[in-house]
Amino acid sequence: MQIVCLDLEGVLVPEVWIAFAERTGIADFRRTTRDEPDYDKLMRWRLALLRRHGLRLADIQAVIAGMSPLQGAREFLDDLRGRYQVIILSDTFYEFADPLMRQLGRPTLFCHRLLLDDDGFVADYRLRQPDQKRRAVLALKGLNFQVIAAGDSYNDTAMLGAADAGFLIHPPANVVAEFPQFPVQATLAQLRSSIDAAAARLRGG
Ligand SMILES: [Mg+2]
Repeated sequence: MQIVCLDLEGVLVPEVWIAFAERTGIADFRRTTRDEPDYDKLMRWRLALLRRHGLRLADIQAVIAGMSPLQGAREFLDDLRGRYQVIILSDTFYEFADPLMRQLGRPTLFCHRLLLDDDGFVADYRLRQPDQKRRAVLALKGLNFQVIAAGDSYNDTAMLGAADAGFLIHPPANVVAEFPQFPVQATLAQLRSSIDAAAARLRGG
């Protein structure tokens, strides 16, 4: 039995915080897991920045409501889900993800959640569990699945390492340089072929 785990942002949809930076004109929001490997540090910094600029969850949701999946992502996912079970393992938040999940045909999503204060500001965030991507892969292996995983960034590398086969999909150069063990895929079409090849190899082994 095989299952595919995919990262969301940078793989199937654009980076939410970069879209938010563009919409608000506040360049500091461009910083992502591609730049800062420490997720908690990154999130604390984002929450402080939101507060400083007087921006509420509703302001972020308004930007996300205007976003679309990356070119070909829905077709890629539909095809994959026709042949494998697929779980999206993301460090986004359920409060952000809904409009994009609807456009992707509502795949299964494991992510985190935000805590709001009475004024609608993001007061804090709760991880579903620490190191959730890697631990989800290990839990799936404990259920006798062979896991094939793909992601684009620092926060995916533990997941890729835990999986039976792990791929980077259009990653930034610094991630490629630091993690040469993961084959780099340039496009979703290439990733699809590599997933199929890995699945065939794992079935045989
Ligand atoms: Mg990503």
